[in-house]
Amino acid sequence: MDACRALIDGRFPDDSDRGAAAMLLEDGTILTGTSPDAINSSVEVCHEIEPYCGAFRLGQSIVASVCLHRAADGRFLVLSPCGVCRERLAVHGPDVLVAVADETDPTRVQWATLRDVLPHYWMTVFPEEVEAWGR
Ligand SMILES: [Zn+2]
Repeated sequence: MDACRALIDGRFPDDSDRGAAAMLLEDGTILTGTSPDAINSSVEVCHEIEPYCGAFRLGQSIVASVCLHRAADGRFLVLSPCGVCRERLAVHGPDVLVAVADETDPTRVQWATLRDVLPHYWMTVFPEEVEAWGR
């Protein structure tokens, strides 16, 4: 959480409505990333892409992932990973922790496993894959 906030504040000191992501790897490394601007918004990527690719480059498993958005009022809102990012994180197993917003306060984080946020994950219908998913 701190690394994610630090990236937003450091990279975008005068600009609200910016976000970033941070991921904790199995060796304790924390990788961060943010989404570059694009002229055509349809080619923008999620903040999670940079740390996700970095984990692969380093050959490390992802243990936890958080994405924050700094709103115009300066609050840091917790954004749960989008469906595509959940699918990407699934290769690291069902126990990956993802930050989700508290139901009563979106600036407070709650940690949930991928298993929790993907209760009907498509891969579990394949018996040979169920064990890998941990069910
Ligand atoms: Zn995403």
